[in-house]
Amino acid sequence: MTRFNSLASQFFIFIAIILSIAMTVSTYIQFSNEDAIINKALYDRGESLGELLASISIEPLLVFDDVTLNGYAEFISNQRDIVFAAVVNEENVPLTHYLNKNNQYVQSALSKKTTVDIKPTLEELKKNTQILFFETPVNFGGKHLAKAWVGLDRQPYRQLSKNALIKIILVTLCVGLFVGIALYFMFKRRIFEPIEILTNGTKNIINFEFDKTVKIEGTGELVELADSFDQMRLQIKETIESRDQVMEELSELNDSLEERVQERTQELQILNLKIAHEAMHDPLTGLPNRVLVTEQLQHDLAHAERTKTQLAVFIMDLNNFKEVNDTLGHPEGDRLLVNVAQRLLKAVRESDTVGRLGGDEFAMVLPDINEKDAVSVANKILEELLPSFALDDHTLKVGASIGISMYPEHGIDHTSLIRLADVAMYEAKKDKTNVCVYRPELDKYTPLRLSLMDYLHTALETNQLQLHYQPQVSLADNRVISVEALIRWFHPDLGWIFPDQFIPIAENTGLINQVSDWVLEQAFAQWRAWQDEGLDLQIAINLSARDLSNPGLPARIAELCNKYDMHTNGIKAEITESAIMYNPEQVIEIMSEPDVQRLQFAIDDFGTGYSSLSYLKKLQVAEVKIDKSFIIDMINDDNDANIVKSVIDLVHNLGRIVVAEGVEDVGTLTQLQLLGCDKVQGYFFSKAVPVNELMSVINKIEKR
Ligand code: C2E
Ligand code: CA
Ligand code: CA
Repeated sequence: MTRFNSLASQFFIFIAIILSIAMTVSTYIQFSNEDAIINKALYDRGESLGELLASISIEPLLVFDDVTLNGYAEFISNQRDIVFAAVVNEENVPLTHYLNKNNQYVQSALSKKTTVDIKPTLEELKKNTQILFFETPVNFGGKHLAKAWVGLDRQPYRQLSKNALIKIILVTLCVGLFVGIALYFMFKRRIFEPIEILTNGTKNIINFEFDKTVKIEGTGELVELADSFDQMRLQIKETIESRDQVMEELSELNDSLEERVQERTQELQILNLKIAHEAMHDPLTGLPNRVLVTEQLQHDLAHAERTKTQLAVFIMDLNNFKEVNDTLGHPEGDRLLVNVAQRLLKAVRESDTVGRLGGDEFAMVLPDINEKDAVSVANKILEELLPSFALDDHTLKVGASIGISMYPEHGIDHTSLIRLADVAMYEAKKDKTNVCVYRPELDKYTPLRLSLMDYLHTALETNQLQLHYQPQVSLADNRVISVEALIRWFHPDLGWIFPDQFIPIAENTGLINQVSDWVLEQAFAQWRAWQDEGLDLQIAINLSARDLSNPGLPARIAELCNKYDMHTNGIKAEITESAIMYNPEQVIEIMSEPDVQRLQFAIDDFGTGYSSLSYLKKLQVAEVKIDKSFIIDMINDDNDANIVKSVIDLVHNLGRIVVAEGVEDVGTLTQLQLLGCDKVQGYFFSKAVPVNELMSVINKIEKR
């Protein structure tokens, strides 16, 4: 449907207006001409009638023949369009007259007449503008006789010109209408329809309908335009189709890429889990290895401490396994171990840990158990192992010995519990009792241990102990700013006894508190002596896990600080990472005591104790000492070097100082310098030396 504001209707309206104006103008001109002609005819008739009346009136006037004169007037007035005819004298007095009684003006004038005198009636009619008045003089022989009056009604002529006007308008209208319609149809076919086709084509493209062809029949610019438009439509269609295809391919590619990434991520996760598992598990039996058993034990110990429950550690060793291996070969030995592992798992609870420490040695951790039940479980395990093992080529029986240590009765830390279970296991083997619970007497039978314990008491009382000092060198300026105090024991009969031999025993027997107390006093006294000499050297001492749980420690530190007037960080306590991780919350708590805070702290043997970053952040330690096992071989072992580098970065990120111990050669020193290590300590500079040798050692180092 053609809308009112469409181009076609606008065009139609425009044409109509133009035609109307043109027609109006032409009608007006035509009508004016027609009117003028009619008017002219009217005048001509009026004049000739006037002249006719004047000429025929001469004779009757001359002879005063009124009858003839009247007849003439009547004759003239007989014409339909004549209103009146009269012959008047100089004073306009009618000599004869005739009025057309059928005429409306005459009728109205006569109805108003009051006298017999006709003159006023004629005067009134003469003045009427609707009546065309003619006056013709009647002359004869140069003498003026009278005037002939004729009044003509304009009305019939008006009607004539009105009729003519209607005719003209009708004709013009017909012509105009015809021209308008013709023009409309011509333009409709040639312009409006093509434009509509193009418009619809555009709309289709806007609506992504590319399949409808745009075509105009015929020739001309619009046909060409439609052809170009259609080509454009095809091109857009092609472009969009190929774009859609590319997009589809792209999205497929993206999907497969995402799938690959997911697969790879999963593979990596599995690989990571595997690596983590392998690091913690025995590849043969799949049981936790020593690392994981120790970790689990530490975890269970922390739990036992919190819940105030007991815990048992089993160490189990197969009897005659060496012989199985030697006679049946390693593959059979391995098969036996796998079978044993399976039976062990059957005999314990889900919450228990079964691990393989190496060879034929297994360990079990049983949380929340008392000694009596622990012994029953051990016997159950032995029963489980009783039936013969069917291996590939052989069937054989194996016995086993189990040693048990109990928390907290026999020990409170993982190292001693494992060691004590081991002592009990040897006893079980020796005794052929198969199951043995640790008793302190078992340890005492170890001759060295027995004597060392006695001797250490004496040593504390008789000054057999002394502190040696090992310099710690600051790499920034090659200066010795601190020394580590390492305990030395010279026994009159046994000679030098090194801390590794007696410190663990002292820790297990609780004597360590006395040893540490002695070390603290010595270190404070030495620090004061150096201060008095004008030498500002910090002294690092070593504290054990047991020292940290000694309730007297804070007061003792405060006492020593006052006694030796120590305000600065003159003394630093080194605590091993594993001692901290044994009970981190407690260590954090102790370290936050104001008296304890008068000492500085360092984490010792870092890298061996599986500490977590969250605890490291919480601990208020000034320094972290990388364990010497990583340093000693770091220039040959990339793995060690990587660990050292990572630890240095980590510690620096935490804003702490990094110390490397165990620096034995210049190569290691250079590498540590490159990695940005802050302080070093090791045989390369000096071993721990007695106090009287220390000055010359320091001088030598600083002159380097
Ligand atoms: P630690 O605290 O890690 O001390 C460092 C040990 O490494 C010392 O052995 C030291 O002599 C040794 N060392 C230093 N530089 C090098 C080096 O370049 N290469 C090698 N291979 N070793 C180096 P030491 O004096 O035998 O002490 C052994 C452990 O005994 C100490 O390890 C510490 O845990 C403990 N200890 C020593 N003195 C005390 C003490 O007074 N109290 C306590 N509770 N423990 C002590
Ligand atoms: Ca140390
Ligand atoms: Ca150390």
